[in-house]
Amino acid sequence: MGAGFAGIGTGIQLKRKGIGDFVIIERADEVGGTWRDNTYPGVACDVPSHIYSFSFRLNPDWSRVRAPGREIQEYLVTAAREEGLYPHLRFGEALERATWDDVAKRWIVETPRATYSARFVVLACGHLADERLPDIPGIETFTGDFFHSARWNHDVPLEGKRIALIGTGASGIQLLPELAKVASQVVVFQRTPPYISPAPNPVYTEAEKRLWSRSPETLRELRTEMFWLAEANFAARRGVPAYLEAARKKALDHLERSVPDPELRAKLTPDYEIGCKRLLNSDEYYATLQEDHVILETSALARIDGGQAISAAGNAFEVDVIVFATGFEAAQPLFANHVFRHDGISLADSWCEGMIAYASNTTHGFPNLFILNGPNTSSGHLSAIYIIESQINYFMGALEFAHTHGAEVLEVTKEAESAYVADVRRRSEGTVWTDGGCHNWYVDPRSGALTVIWPDFMHAFREENGTFDPEPYHVELAAHGRVEARGGAA
Ligand code: NAP
Repeated sequence: MGAGFAGIGTGIQLKRKGIGDFVIIERADEVGGTWRDNTYPGVACDVPSHIYSFSFRLNPDWSRVRAPGREIQEYLVTAAREEGLYPHLRFGEALERATWDDVAKRWIVETPRATYSARFVVLACGHLADERLPDIPGIETFTGDFFHSARWNHDVPLEGKRIALIGTGASGIQLLPELAKVASQVVVFQRTPPYISPAPNPVYTEAEKRLWSRSPETLRELRTEMFWLAEANFAARRGVPAYLEAARKKALDHLERSVPDPELRAKLTPDYEIGCKRLLNSDEYYATLQEDHVILETSALARIDGGQAISAAGNAFEVDVIVFATGFEAAQPLFANHVFRHDGISLADSWCEGMIAYASNTTHGFPNLFILNGPNTSSGHLSAIYIIESQINYFMGALEFAHTHGAEVLEVTKEAESAYVADVRRRSEGTVWTDGGCHNWYVDPRSGALTVIWPDFMHAFREENGTFDPEPYHVELAAHGRVEARGGAA
């Protein structure tokens, strides 16, 4: 399910292993996931592209350190084409219902166009797939146009318009400089100021690209270097004081250098610990905020009245267009409403106190189901692709085990899942995400538990969760009925 990085990566590994009996179901009409959906002006990746790409499909041609979104989308389309995935792709098929059939030992997957019977299901739907539009009273009275950053309406002209930009997360701060170039006025509704670090983003020279093309080994060395440099940033997320202080100083120095006016600077200074919300980077955002036609409103958008956007502080602004850069439904993913156990209980019900999984991969009650980019798999300091690749390896290991041992059903035990979740909760304690004094999208508001982000080093994720081990699974063999496989099913 899903043809973003996780679905495409899984498809590639299946093909390369010579497994052809699979389909990739995708609700949209092209691959790319969040990079297909996010076409807003200024969209780019804030992770270096050489590590925000597959280790098994190096790209020597990234134009700059952090490539624009369009290039990443092209990378994924090319990968899907060159790896022969298009015949496996089923576009325009939103998942309606996936149900485990306990008799046939298969998943029955229904979309508006077809019903599939599958031995294994991989949910690769992503954290950033379903946009979050706040419920704004009076929005139905709005006389202009409004849309979410991930559903950009390219038919709405922005030249000379008065625009309200709602939200100052990664999307919002990339958007502002682009909107300000064309609008007559931009009002930024800032509910919480973000920390922003400087963001030099050099272009790569033709000589560099040629070198990497001729010598993939050099490119691998560069990736390794970038990986460990970024990996060190986890220390600050863990709450190690010296690292926190260094990160805070870098961001606040950037603010001080960029914004001379102390009153404006105070409005832009966060009152929570750095890293609690995603640490952003931009060289343009602060400068744009100080342009004459840009207004910073330091409270939430509270309501709409005809052509007016009215803030929680009571300030009213006449606007023509409202852009909601208000984030995604990450902690309560919508796909979970469409996946059912054999007894009719949905994954969403099973996750009613927050997403959980064993090894961040599989969940009790849902056999033969692998969840990529699900519970505790987001990264606050490194590339999500590294986690995705680890999870693909885990799934491929499970497939190989099932094939080798004739296993029809793999279901993780409740005990193993509970022990893993308890361990993740323990590791979460003391991190900036749980203790940093902010609201962020990594914590499930229902339980207060950190369910979206992985609270440790990235290499620890791969070491612990990147290799399938049958030990904590009930394994049902095709010929011999249900057996418990502790230490292997053979
Ligand atoms: P986000 O980080 O969830 O930010 C949403 C913003 O909307 C927050 O500033 C939030 O304020 C604000 N908001 C929500 N309701 C509001 C209201 N009624 N009035 C005013 N503000 C309101 O979403 P995002 O910026 O789309 O980023 C989501 C994630 O996508 C990022 O963390 C990142 O992982 C990824 N992303 C990455 C890149 C990249 O460069 N790689 C670019 C874009 C996105 P509060 O802070 O007060 O909640």
